Amino acid sequence: WKRRYFKLRGRTLYYAKDSKSLIFDEVDLSDASVAETSTKNVNNSFTVITPFRKLMLCAESRKEMEDWISALKSVQKWESYEASQFNMEHFSGMHNWYACSHARPTFCNVCREALPGVTSHGLSCEVCKFKAHKRCAVRSTNNCKWTTLASIGNDIIEDEDGVSMPHQWLEGNLPVSAKCVVCDRACGSVRRLQDWRCLWCKAIVHSSCKEQLGKICPLGQCKVSIIPPTALNSIDSDGFWKAMSPSCSSPLLVLVNSKSGDNQGVKFLRKFRQLLNPAQVFDLMNGGPQLGLRLFQKFETFRILVCGGDGSVGWVLSELDKMQLHKQCQLGVLPLGTGNDLARVLGWGGLCDDDAQLLQILEKLERATTKMLDRWSIMTYEVPTKNTPVIIKEEEPLDCPLQVHFLYFAWSYNSNEFLCGTVNDFVAEVGKAYERVTENKEEADAMAKKCAMLNEKLDSLVRALGEEADAQLVPPGSQPPEQEGEAGGPDAPGMPRPFRSREQLMLRANSLKKALRQIIEQAEKVVDEQNRHTQVQRMSSSSSIKRGSSEDLKEAESRLNTVSLTSTAPAVLEKTNSCNILAPSSDESVQCTEKCVMNNYFGIGLDAKISLEFNNKRDEHPKKCSSRTKNMMWYGVLGTKELLQKTYKNLEQRVQLECDGVPISLPSLQGLAVLNIPSYAGGINFWGGTKEDNNFGAPSFDDKKLEVVAVFGSMQMAMSRVINIQHHRIAQCRQVKITIKGDEGVPVQVDGEAWVQPPGIVQILHKNRAQMLTRDRNFESTLKLWEDKRKYESCRSARPRLNSQQSMEYLTEEECAQVHQLGLVADSLINRIREVATTHKVVEQELAHAVNASAAVLSEAFPSKPSSPECLSRSTAVEIVNSSKHLFVHVCMLVCVLQQLEAPQEEELLSTLNSLSAELIKLEDIHWICPSMHCTEEVRVVISMIKQHSNNTWPLT
Ligand SMILES: [Zn+2]
Ligand SMILES: [Zn+2]
Ligand SMILES: [Zn+2]
Ligand SMILES: [Zn+2]
Repeated sequence: WKRRYFKLRGRTLYYAKDSKSLIFDEVDLSDASVAETSTKNVNNSFTVITPFRKLMLCAESRKEMEDWISALKSVQKWESYEASQFNMEHFSGMHNWYACSHARPTFCNVCREALPGVTSHGLSCEVCKFKAHKRCAVRSTNNCKWTTLASIGNDIIEDEDGVSMPHQWLEGNLPVSAKCVVCDRACGSVRRLQDWRCLWCKAIVHSSCKEQLGKICPLGQCKVSIIPPTALNSIDSDGFWKAMSPSCSSPLLVLVNSKSGDNQGVKFLRKFRQLLNPAQVFDLMNGGPQLGLRLFQKFETFRILVCGGDGSVGWVLSELDKMQLHKQCQLGVLPLGTGNDLARVLGWGGLCDDDAQLLQILEKLERATTKMLDRWSIMTYEVPTKNTPVIIKEEEPLDCPLQVHFLYFAWSYNSNEFLCGTVNDFVAEVGKAYERVTENKEEADAMAKKCAMLNEKLDSLVRALGEEADAQLVPPGSQPPEQEGEAGGPDAPGMPRPFRSREQLMLRANSLKKALRQIIEQAEKVVDEQNRHTQVQRMSSSSSIKRGSSEDLKEAESRLNTVSLTSTAPAVLEKTNSCNILAPSSDESVQCTEKCVMNNYFGIGLDAKISLEFNNKRDEHPKKCSSRTKNMMWYGVLGTKELLQKTYKNLEQRVQLECDGVPISLPSLQGLAVLNIPSYAGGINFWGGTKEDNNFGAPSFDDKKLEVVAVFGSMQMAMSRVINIQHHRIAQCRQVKITIKGDEGVPVQVDGEAWVQPPGIVQILHKNRAQMLTRDRNFESTLKLWEDKRKYESCRSARPRLNSQQSMEYLTEEECAQVHQLGLVADSLINRIREVATTHKVVEQELAHAVNASAAVLSEAFPSKPSSPECLSRSTAVEIVNSSKHLFVHVCMLVCVLQQLEAPQEEELLSTLNSLSAELIKLEDIHWICPSMHCTEEVRVVISMIKQHSNNTWPLT
């Protein structure tokens, strides 16, 4: 027997020489069984049997042994401890198998035999690309890409400087053109498992050359962002890994919302795990931001990359609030899905859906600069009334960071009919309203057609939803399918129902959404008109709403409880911001409480329409995304209904606005928007303009100031996409207070989340600031330009020379005309550049040298421009060609990184460049110029380089 130190964490049993050991061996207990060794068992020994190994252990006393056995057995009942379990799986080293075919011969990493079939069918690990037969997968050890120090095991390099990271080699199945980093010769084989690839630095070596390569892994291209497994070596008391090590310069925590952008997130998740340490990449949908943040919180500073929509970013930010990590970390955004206003203003664009770009994205993130983002508390106070509408009461019990509002509730399956009815009512009502008002026959017809189409789509969606509901409602052989008649529609009952794929549902919902939107757009006009004359009766559907909503709240609450159970750290407790403010008309002091936090914008009145319409942000929070299509239906239908029946004309009579304590008298308006960032609901700059003027400073998200604007109608919203309108600006201030008068609520929205706020007070106060990573395009382009120049210059051959006899010869008439033509085009390029340079400093700086040089050559060769020269010496011709080529290359590179020229200017420049490239290529015909100067090749090299940079939008041919 040998004495060892054991600890049990989650589903893993760790052991080492003593408690201070750096390296622990581990046994995964997922499928383990425990048994006493013999019936007599005099030495208190017992055995742990897993699919992979058998471990014989011996305890000091009978009592101790029994404790261990019961502890090990309890692991099997671990399910309830969800977060921690995830934490353990994350670090277990298990492969993430998926079945796939391979285009080339591929070999099993377990038994070394070829995978069967022409297409080598078998299992592949999506993180490390380990290959296996299906039958061999069980025999593969948990040797996926390392995550922690312990997982490196015996390969660890230990010397006087401490521990360092070795290469992690995976054998064989190398790419076609693989080359050995040591000897630079071809590597790998299609006949057997042969030669090696490092999962971290991606180096490839021959088996025979492996010894010659240094032992320490340099981690490769993503070095700066990778957390080496050597940095993860301690577990805190509740089973969570804690990272602490100075060895990584700028650790990056990647939080991916796998549901964002119709589940696009999944491929980003996979790709990030391949590029980085799998332990630094988390799925927000699997445990939320907390797991990752806990892992990272011991780092003095770190970066976070959130891949998802604005909703995901808000979620992570509110978790940072709770854990008080704002000082330690900077947050960057990779926008997935739609409507990413925050990502847009931070310079990351509105959408990224190309997972092939991840290396470049990581690079951009390394070059990003930090800016502060103001964050604002939305404080509310509700006037207690005798008969508060039922709806409002329901949002109170929920105390989660992102408020669930009354319009959000999961589809309760027995309300199929209700939904159907609501939409039908809606369609009928719109139809009727339309008939009444419009005299235009054509328009009415178009509308009727659309209504019919909508109805059809609705039917099929509801049918699909019904099927899904049934599939979920009726687990094999339990409940009698009682609801089938109600929900099933024309489908034959009694048949086993196929489970509809989400995609199919999504498609249907999307086309329905489109149809609805078209109708709403048309109907809106009409109903506006109609509202002038008549008050449309409000339909009361609140009783049904109440039912669904309260059910959901219960569910959400219970889930909330599970979350708080697992978060045992006291610092995580939510702090509610409270403040005392004075009601405007009386001395009575009222207490406002923080309802939510605003990162982007706040809207009240008509503006809420935008978010009530159709909004994808539902995806961004797991509590809300359980049934996306269903939510969207409710959200869209009810939201629009509300608006159709009650446009918020004359909002000024229902609310009172105070900016920095000064009451503002409002013009007749339909809504108010309060902006922190200059992008609204999918990219509108609502403030209009980004510069300061006589009345207001430049809007900015780090000035502790808000911009308040009036919303007059949907026309204005549409217009502000096209032009800058400014007459609607109300104020720029540090605090906003809105009093809702009367006894009816008004729709409000914060960052796209909408609800009806009952009468009372809404205050917007500065809360804190978060450090955001913003893309600095100027810095990026300068760097790129510099790199490109270096690349070009290094591959450029020495200056061509003619021998002395050649250089004195004169050109033929034909040649002369050709060179002259080139000169003319070059000259017009020079003129274009000079025009552009007057407005763009960069152009002047970057091109002055090339322009001047080529201008000098041209003016010497053609002293009087219009006349064609009678004679040109070959050496002059070479100089002209050379300087033109030089100019061409430089201009091309600048234009492709500049990306800020106005359209007409850019077009002119591009067409001139195009003709110049044509002229240069034509020189191929002159036998003595081109071979020595490689014009054609160089021009082509430059063009292909540029095409790569500008994503093939470059018009050069
Ligand atoms: Zn095999
Ligand atoms: Zn793997
Ligand atoms: Zn390596
Ligand atoms: Zn080699």
